[in-house]
Amino acid sequence: MADPDGVPAVPCHHLHVSGWRLEHSYADLPALFHARVAPTPVRDPQFVVFNTPLATALGLDAPSLDTPAGAAIFAGNVLPDGARPLAQAYAGHQFGHFTALGDGRAILLGEQLTPDGRRVDVQLKGAGATPYSRRGDGRAALGPMLRELVISEAMHALGIPTSRSLAVVSTGEPVYRERALPGAVLTRVAASHLRVGTFEWAAAHRDPAALQALADYTLQRHHPAAAECPTPYVALFEAIAERQASLIAQWQLVGFVHGVMNTDNMSLAGETLDYGPCAFIDSYDPAAVFSSIDAAGRYAYGQQPAIAQWNLARLAEALLPLFDADQARAIELANACIASFETRFQHHWLTGMRAKLGLVNDEPGDAALAEALLTWMHDTRADFTTTFSRLSTPGASEGTPGSAADVPTDAAFHAWRGQWQARLARQPHAPEAVTAAMQQRNPAVIPRNHLVEAALVAATDAGDLGPLERLMAALAAPYDHARDRAESGVAPAPGGRPYRTFCGT
Ligand code: AMP
Ligand code: MG
Repeated sequence: MADPDGVPAVPCHHLHVSGWRLEHSYADLPALFHARVAPTPVRDPQFVVFNTPLATALGLDAPSLDTPAGAAIFAGNVLPDGARPLAQAYAGHQFGHFTALGDGRAILLGEQLTPDGRRVDVQLKGAGATPYSRRGDGRAALGPMLRELVISEAMHALGIPTSRSLAVVSTGEPVYRERALPGAVLTRVAASHLRVGTFEWAAAHRDPAALQALADYTLQRHHPAAAECPTPYVALFEAIAERQASLIAQWQLVGFVHGVMNTDNMSLAGETLDYGPCAFIDSYDPAAVFSSIDAAGRYAYGQQPAIAQWNLARLAEALLPLFDADQARAIELANACIASFETRFQHHWLTGMRAKLGLVNDEPGDAALAEALLTWMHDTRADFTTTFSRLSTPGASEGTPGSAADVPTDAAFHAWRGQWQARLARQPHAPEAVTAAMQQRNPAVIPRNHLVEAALVAATDAGDLGPLERLMAALAAPYDHARDRAESGVAPAPGGRPYRTFCGT
């Protein structure tokens, strides 16, 4: 059949291609790493949020997916072209205790090849039971899935490596937690879902071939340069440690508290992964904990670097047989790598802190200067984000950084500001250039807990998406200091009740 111009007609189904280009490299790993399982269909899939810019960046045809047919795909009712669903197996240390886990409610559809040449996992979270569900129902509630969407997309806009959120679809079915809640499925997009716990799983099986296959796969997928090194598996570990050090430094520099840094939630691609009881600090406090299940403060804000290092030690233990055939030598190598995390983290943290303070060159006193500001914030319970944001805001008449009308007035702050401005004066940069650079590193807006909570309550209890949409629009431009931040930029009033988050499983 040809049209009047003689061009062959495109077969009908090609008119409906949605841009899926799914591959399945993970499925080629040994069988112990996965189980083939399809999503369990839900009653009434409806989009709550569809992330059009992300869909487009993935090479998907957004208009054809932002439809009931698309909602059926993102609910798990219909498989997209080329999908081969599976659940991943992994283990993990949860609050310090080893457990066998696996995707209990997440199903990988495949790896999408993007127009810019990346390979990213597309995973449905809350898509039904899997062989790893243990006693769980395989489902997710709408509130926590919207929370992951809001915070992960905010992290992305902040420039911090993270998994992304492509869609949240409500299922029309309740999930039963302390009470009945509306159910939902989140579509998560990540560089991969390889975690420290994936290696712990391989090691626990005492299967050298499987361990090596996983290590080679991780090398190829995330750290190909390490494969060229004389000791590729040591180089792999170092590359992972380096990305973690950079990632955790970025968390610290915006006040992000992951909340459940179990080894199964630590990505080998160096992305922020698994948004559960996470939150941002308001007033600066290293002991800040938000998760209701972390009474001991294992995952407190100030603990995150040390916990990342602890998690990396679990990774090194799993990798030991690949480091060196001689166990004593392997342990020696592992210890040196684990110890290097502190230097790596400190480097990234100080580099980031210098940028937040507008310091463009290095002076030996810079770390102490930054620490002194943090000590002042801690003593006065000053708001972390607001403090840095104000330092980035020059006064109306003079261009001097930190001369905003509403900076604090106490003597300790003024003494610190004097030191800082003297430090700035020792570098040959115009104040306007310094404030402009600082504004790119100090967000004007973060996902404030009280606003996230209010937006989730409106969406889940009243079906009102207005507050969520306004919040997400504000969070999409966190470094735009000129924008009117009437509602989203405001820190909560001091003295409110401590914020608590729940795991939301
Ligand atoms: P998370 O705290 O989200 O990292 O989950 C820890 C483990 O519990 C993972 O193996 C999850 O797959 C599993 N899990 C969490 N919620 C559920 C659920 N509702 N049903 C089955 N498994 C779950
Ligand atoms: Mg997890």
